[in-house]
Parts: sequence; C-alpha cells; structure tokens
Amino acid sequence: MKNLQSLVRPNIWALEPYSCARDEFKGMEAHVFLDANESPYNEPLNRYPDPLQEKVKKILAPVKHVRPSQIFLGNGSDEAIDLIYRIFCNPKQDNVVAIAPTYGMYKVCADVNDVEYRSVSLSEDWQLNPKALLAATDSNTKVIWICSPNNPTGNDFPREVLHEVLMSFEGIVVIDEAYSDFSTQQPFRTVLDNYPNLIVLNTFSKAWASAAIRLGMAFASEEIIALFNKVKYPYNVNLLAQEKACALLADRPTLDGWLVQVNREREHVLPALAELPIVQEVFPTDANFVLVRVTDANRVYQYLIGKGIVVRNRHRVQLCNDCLRITIGTRQENNELLGALRFFK
Ligand SMILES: *Cc1c(COP(=O)(O)O)cnc(C)c1O
Repeated sequence: MKNLQSLVRPNIWALEPYSCARDEFKGMEAHVFLDANESPYNEPLNRYPDPLQEKVKKILAPVKHVRPSQIFLGNGSDEAIDLIYRIFCNPKQDNVVAIAPTYGMYKVCADVNDVEYRSVSLSEDWQLNPKALLAATDSNTKVIWICSPNNPTGNDFPREVLHEVLMSFEGIVVIDEAYSDFSTQQPFRTVLDNYPNLIVLNTFSKAWASAAIRLGMAFASEEIIALFNKVKYPYNVNLLAQEKACALLADRPTLDGWLVQVNREREHVLPALAELPIVQEVFPTDANFVLVRVTDANRVYQYLIGKGIVVRNRHRVQLCNDCLRITIGTRQENNELLGALRFFK
C-alpha cells in the first residue's frame, strides 16, 4: 500500500474538523448542560446524540470481530460510499475502478463527486478477473470497488481472488459485504488487520432487517476510520437509530432466526424457479436475492406488476439482458410469486 497520506486528498489530510459541544466536554459526570443551546424540554430528544455512537460500537465490535476504533457508522452504507470519494478522490483528477454489473451507488457517488468511474466487465458467469481489474488502474486510481456477494448477480467472489486484488493494488480496496451474512464464505471484515488498504462495508438494511433506521457500517484501520470521523457530519446518526441498533443487538437470537428463515426460503425458491418454463437460468446466489434469466424480462415484470408483485427488472443492465432480480421474502410472498409465474403466458 502507498502511504496513507499520499492517498488522501490534501485538503482532507489538513482538515481541522468541527469541534462540537459533545466533543469538547468529555470525562467528568455533569448534570447541567448549558453548552449546546439545546432546549431543556422534551427529554431525551432535546439532546444532541453521541457523535461517535460509542455505545453502539461497543456492542457491535465483538459481533463483527473488529475493535470499536475500526468502526464507522453512517446514515446507511450510502454515507460511507460518499465519504470514501470525499476523503480519497480529487475531483476531475483521480479515478476509481469497479466491476460491472454491480451496485449502482458507487457510480452515482462518483458522478456527484466528479470522479472518473472505470468499470471492468465480469465474465458471462459473473467471475472477476483480478488482472483485468488491475490493468484498468493507473497512478491516479485511488479506490477499487468490489461487492461480494455481488449485487445484482448474487455470487461471492473467491477469497483468493479478493486477496490477490488487495495485495497487488497500492490504493484503497473497498469490499462491500452487505450480503455476507447470507453466504457461507468467511467475510473479509474478520481479517481487517491483515490488509491496511481494506475498507469493508456492512449494513443494518439486509440480514438485520432494519433498512428504515438507515444505519451503515464501514470497517477499516484506525487511521482510515479517523479520516471518516473527521469528514462526516458531526451528528450523522440520530439518537433513535442508535437506540434501535442497541435494542436489536440485544436480541441476537431473533436476528439469527430471521437469517435462518431467509436462507431456508432460498432453498425452497431456487429449485421452484428453475422448474418454470419461462425461466432460462437461475444464477447461483450467496445472497438474499436471486438473479433469474427469463424469456422476456420486460413482459414478465409488467405481468407481475399487474398482480401487485414487484421484482427488480435488470434487463437494461450490462450482461443482464432478460434478467430479473428477485428478493427472497416470506413463504407466503414467495409462493404468491411462484404461483403467479406458473400462470404466465
Ligand atoms: C442494499 C445494499 C447496501 C445497503 O445500503 P444502505 O445504505 O446501508 O441501506 C449496500 N451495498 C449494497 C451492494 C447493497 O445492495
């Protein structure tokens, strides 16, 4: 890895972060708070929340096998994605490299930040060629984006392949593991200490069933997390989200139960889809969704809409012609989908 300073935008490296009232007062117990122009009424919502979400991180760290100082929490993973551009990529000068097809937000945030986005196509069976990825980089490439299990294809990339990218690229490698809970492969967040250039993304939105609270996670070295903390809005995660996260994590059996249930449903849905005459291919999946190639994706999509069933039409996405991305739901929802598809003409 290049030294961290050479990868960070000079203005960010030099940045003196906003010092909020809750940062300045640390340590001793106090009971009269007249430092932040808050109202004395409407407790507890009158108080600014913990800017570094220490309670959440303390509970989260052992669950994710990282240290609290290696965690950034944001308003969804989307905040972490945007911050990675703002920390590392000089607009109009630097570039990033990503696979295609993949999650759309990497490109949207590149465009917002005026950073060149280079994409390298996966093979027809959704494999990633590390040499091709590396070949697309140059001295201005700051970040490589890899989503594994990948959205929308559903597959994990082999660990050796990701290891090769991490070892041979001198800049930052982001591995988005939003769906890793649904996979049997060991996630990279557990070996964070082996890779100083690695940032792993996780989210409360998928296996943890909490998309509404908007809570995303980034795991990286303490030095990289310090940069996130410097650039983020001071109170980027609100009190209600922090409290809800703690409550969720206090009931691990329920979270684990949801995961078991979704994985079990996946085993039920995949073979049933494969038997349908309109289905040409069910791609292997390590996530809570499956990419399916059908005879005519636009027609099937419209037909399902007519039945009140919404799936994701990926027909226009690179290499995904005639593909639908279908999320695994409850037994009842899945059966409703399968029943409708059996009657498609
Ligand atoms: C759903 C998803 C996320 C989660 O985004 P949030 O902003 O945390 O809800 C992140 N990455 C990928 C690839 C996703 O599909």
